[in-house]
Amino acid sequence: MGRTRGHGRSRGRRGGAPGLDGLFRPRSVAVVGASRDRHSIGREVVENLVAGGFEGPVYPVNPRAAVVHSMHCYRSLAAIPGPVDLVVAVVKAALVPKVAADCARKGVKGLVVVSAGFREIGPAGAALEDEVVGICRRAGIRLVGPNCMGILNTEPEVRLNASFAATTPMPGGVAFVSQSGALGEAILADARQAGLGIRMFASVGNSADVGADALCEYWADDPGVKLILLYLESFGDPVRFKAVTERLRGRKPVIAVKSGRTKAGARAAGSHTGSVAGEDRVVDTFLRQCGVLRAASLRQMFSYAGALLHQPRPSGRRIAVVTNAGGPGILATDALEGCGLELADLRPATRRELARVLPPEASVQNPVDLIASADAERYRRALRIVGRDPNADALIVLFVSPIMIDAHAVARAIVEETGRAGKPVVTCVMGRKGQREAVATLKEAGIPVFRFPEEAASTMAGLVRYWEAAAEPAGRRRRFRGDREAVRRILRRVCGQGGGWLEPAKVRAVLAAYRIPFVPTKTARDPAGAMAAAHELGYPVVLKAAAPGLVHKSDLGAVALGLDGGDAVFEAAEAMRRRLGGRTGLSFEVQKVAPGHRELLLGMTRDPKFGPVLAVGLGGVNVEVLHDVSLRVGPLAERDPARMLAELRGAALLGAYRGEPEIDRELVEVCLHRLDRLAADHPEIAEIDLNPFIAAPKGVGSYAVDARIRVEPLEARG
Ligand code: ADP
Ligand code: MG
Repeated sequence: MGRTRGHGRSRGRRGGAPGLDGLFRPRSVAVVGASRDRHSIGREVVENLVAGGFEGPVYPVNPRAAVVHSMHCYRSLAAIPGPVDLVVAVVKAALVPKVAADCARKGVKGLVVVSAGFREIGPAGAALEDEVVGICRRAGIRLVGPNCMGILNTEPEVRLNASFAATTPMPGGVAFVSQSGALGEAILADARQAGLGIRMFASVGNSADVGADALCEYWADDPGVKLILLYLESFGDPVRFKAVTERLRGRKPVIAVKSGRTKAGARAAGSHTGSVAGEDRVVDTFLRQCGVLRAASLRQMFSYAGALLHQPRPSGRRIAVVTNAGGPGILATDALEGCGLELADLRPATRRELARVLPPEASVQNPVDLIASADAERYRRALRIVGRDPNADALIVLFVSPIMIDAHAVARAIVEETGRAGKPVVTCVMGRKGQREAVATLKEAGIPVFRFPEEAASTMAGLVRYWEAAAEPAGRRRRFRGDREAVRRILRRVCGQGGGWLEPAKVRAVLAAYRIPFVPTKTARDPAGAMAAAHELGYPVVLKAAAPGLVHKSDLGAVALGLDGGDAVFEAAEAMRRRLGGRTGLSFEVQKVAPGHRELLLGMTRDPKFGPVLAVGLGGVNVEVLHDVSLRVGPLAERDPARMLAELRGAALLGAYRGEPEIDRELVEVCLHRLDRLAADHPEIAEIDLNPFIAAPKGVGSYAVDARIRVEPLEARG
């Protein structure tokens, strides 16, 4: 037969994704459950394999049919004379364990279970799924599914369509994994429309064995894969996912659409940190930390893919807009600022040069308006000048096609000049005349083209965000050792009593063990004791009442600030006792006044899936209103805390402000690292909330003045 591919191929050479060649590069395929019924999936899969031009033999298997799709049909896997690498199972769920066992006996390497009726239907299905996984593991068979649409590989020497998808994609450099079968199908169709070529596709269904992380690992080593698309409904193992995406970072873009975006933070939150770290924000943060670009919609995913495949890396977020119409230029400007990009400040030299080549009515400021009479030559000159300006990191070029202008020539000018500039470009072509050719020319050159300036801007924003995140490698956690034993002793005792919120003195002991500064504080049982404590601390002091379940103290009049004498302390304590008299276990805390003025929230909440999530925000009693918090999933990289602070909308408040020098950022950053360590060392800690941490300039003294820690025995978490 003269086929060189096949039996000599080395297998399982891919690190943590061994055996996936058996799925994607099989030498032969059997379809168990092949059917004569024209409208059945069993028939569709056989047809796709043949129509797709699979390069090896295809064996239909069905004990009740002699012929399927004009092919000899086998009674069983064992009856097939030659070796079988890949089996697609399209039989009732209950029969799948038997198919898997037959596969093991036959020496099959990959099994795709299309059948549904497993984990997705409940415990009985889950048991069946586990049984199938067990058989496959023992036999070294890699399993895709169950409950999936199948897999595809368009490599010319393979040409495998082991799916029931109605669309066969064009070959290309994109690899795509979908957790949803139906959406996978739709995306394959759309990819074709969008001109994206697909190299491999997998609908992973329940991901019982092969999931997104294994596939990413497989594709990391495949030089034919240039970009990876993920449609996710849930995460497998975030730790593995992170490790895999680390290898892809900046090398092969990964774009993810994660569904469930709008599902409001369903988690019951007991702390400030918990209430601002809703599930979707955590997913968002996590993907970014992995260097994965998240798309808000499938449409956006395709736009991002087109831009990332063909456009160079932007050196920053300053965008030059070149247009021949004022309105769209302004729309683009608004839109790009709305997506966090900046309008580039063109250099005076650039403006002078532009003025020399443009008519006087044109605008040489960004957005550069070439006005309606702009022909290809004017675009060419202007783009050359703007493209050279080091203040412009990327370009958005708009063209509203006027009747008298040769749109196609303009498109060619855009292609040539932006290519010369070596900067990323996205375009927006509006109007009718000559539009089709212009769009085709741009697309052919790999330049994204949109109908609306907003889309051009948001695509550029995706490109910029991808490369920004790619430049933030996870890195290594800062070295720090807390007094683990001291904390362990406290937690052991509390866990023995069922966990819950730690009492204030224990909170302070835990923080002290990890050198997280808490304002000097003394505890007292009664007003007289409070007065004595205040004497020892020195005035002025802050007095707070404490009792189990007393949470928002200031709301209940349980915080008195700036008390500057013993009498004031005594009276304030008496007043609190009267007000809160009904509470059992009432005690008092006397604190020094923290000298800073800027109140932050520092915190940690343990996400059931992602583990510790660290938070910093503008804090104090208004944290829920301001909602200005940045998050990171632990472990934090060395520079993460600095980035978290920089990301805050109110970041400027932490700099020199109202006559006070900037806060001691370094200390805040160190505290975040220590919280990260504390959470990593002690999985029993479910939540930490320092609110506020009152930040002051360096040398003045920054302290947490209010802190809560919730402990959960590990057994209770299940
Ligand atoms: P709660 O959050 O339960 O209402 P806090 O202990 O956080 O009570 O105190 C409320 C506010 O009082 C803080 O946000 C802060 O502005 C101020 N405050 C509390 N303790 C101190 C302190 N030791 N020094 C300076 N300000 C304080
Ligand atoms: Mg507070």
